[in-house]
Amino acid sequence: MKSPNEKCVIISKDGIAPLARGGVKQNSVNQPKADMENKLISQLIEKLALCAQSLDPSLDEKLEQLVTQLQHSGDLNQVLEEIKAVEQHLQNKPATIKPALAELDKQTRTAAENLQQAKSLPNNVRANIREYMNRPASEVLREHQDKLAVLVGFYQQLVTHSERPAPNFLRVQSSADPVQEESTSNIPTVDATSHKRICDELQRLITELDFAGEFGEKLAKIRNRILSGIAPSQLASICLEMINLIIDGTREERKASQAFLYSLNESLNSFHQTFCSSVSESRSIRNEQFELNEDLRARLRTMGLQVDNTNDLLQLKLSIQSQLKEIGRLLSEKEAFEQREKELEKRLAEMENKLSLMKDETSEYKKRLSAQKHKLFLDSLTQVYNRAALDERLELEFKRWQRYDHPLCLAIVDIDHFKSINDNYGHMAGDKALKVIARALQKSLRDTDFIARFGGEEFVLLLPNISAQDLQAPLDNLRESIKSIPFKFKDNRVSITISIGATAFVEGDQPLDAFERADQSLYDAKHQGRDRVILSI
Ligand code: GH3
Ligand code: MG
Ligand code: MG
Repeated sequence: MKSPNEKCVIISKDGIAPLARGGVKQNSVNQPKADMENKLISQLIEKLALCAQSLDPSLDEKLEQLVTQLQHSGDLNQVLEEIKAVEQHLQNKPATIKPALAELDKQTRTAAENLQQAKSLPNNVRANIREYMNRPASEVLREHQDKLAVLVGFYQQLVTHSERPAPNFLRVQSSADPVQEESTSNIPTVDATSHKRICDELQRLITELDFAGEFGEKLAKIRNRILSGIAPSQLASICLEMINLIIDGTREERKASQAFLYSLNESLNSFHQTFCSSVSESRSIRNEQFELNEDLRARLRTMGLQVDNTNDLLQLKLSIQSQLKEIGRLLSEKEAFEQREKELEKRLAEMENKLSLMKDETSEYKKRLSAQKHKLFLDSLTQVYNRAALDERLELEFKRWQRYDHPLCLAIVDIDHFKSINDNYGHMAGDKALKVIARALQKSLRDTDFIARFGGEEFVLLLPNISAQDLQAPLDNLRESIKSIPFKFKDNRVSITISIGATAFVEGDQPLDAFERADQSLYDAKHQGRDRVILSI
């Protein structure tokens, strides 16, 4: 509310002038009218001040002071001073506003040009922008505001259009998904189903590779990352990381094998050399000993003849003495031979030791090789057969089925809502559950049946010699046996169920036909509420 002794001023075209009839209490006759005028003018200035608000901070300040003066001051001169200050401020304004508006116009034009370059801009928006750019430059602030609003509208349309999924290359954008999308504006992304499939395949591959040591640990970490959820934009770099690790790991394994073969080769070489020299040594000892023995025998024979034919005892004595001397020399030679023989024996014993060591090493290596071969067909997480083994076995069983016409059934087992086990209790708990379920499945099967882990939480069973009519009961038992496993996660008792789709091979079937039928049945089992067996016959 205004005070009763409000002052009143008008702003003339030429500047500020006191109100002719006096806005100040001078004439008591005209007082009510003057008061009225004062009030109106004061209100007008206040409203103008409100309209001009935020155009210019320094003007705001001056207008605020003027309004306060109008409301409270009884001193007309003081009010006039404030008005003069405002007027002066306004006089300089047009000179600064014009270039600012021109600059703003330039900037909006550049923004519109940039927007036109956007690849995913819908055609109609592009046409509207072209029309927008042909508009004349705005001279008044209000027009600028309108133009800016239109430009913002174009940007909005571009953003909305970019977010809409493209028909074939959908972006993964489920908010429930733990996957976090990085900046993806230029990164080609895969659809959600492919992304999930690739992730499953990658983590399965790591399990199948089963590298030991440093590289195995690094790959296990990548597997954990994949299981915890990765963004599609991270997929390529994770693949690259895996490839590098696999190459390094393979190189390392090769190096280890090479080192073993080198050392084996060296040992064999030195063994060969020692063996050859020992053989020739032993041969020469044998020859020399033979000669020595012959020599000895000859001397003894000569001595015998001399004894028989000589009558001269002195002569005989001298001759025997010289023969005995010679025999003594031959005997010490014989001793030296025996010594050499002993050494040779020692060397041969050492060689025997070395040889048995080498035998141990090679048999260890052989074991490792056969373990590797075994591993090639085993899923390292669940220890049931893997997909490579399934391929082989399926081919074999299929040929048997063709040849002998014994029935053959194929079933696909998929754990129900397994993702929620990972989500609620972590994928380590998920891994453990997978192991337990795989073991339980294996235990419930007959010896002639075959089980392989086909994918993440899917297993394939090959059941020979069982007809389609007899299939339901054992598969239901299998399902029940899994359901009754008392899982406990974080103190929660959890029961995990499985769904099974199964079929029997029929005339004209190829393995893929049976597989697709079982898969369709599994799909039906899931859609009919899970925890069930559906047969397709
Ligand atoms: P549904 O009943 O339809 O089969 O639901 P689901 O959650 O089982 O199926 P979905 O295909 O949506 O998810 C499968 C989950 O299995 C997601 C994936 O992370 C998890 N998974 C796959 N392989 C492994 C693994 O080796 N370890 C762990 N812990 N989880 C795995
Ligand atoms: Mg599945
Ligand atoms: Mg599942």
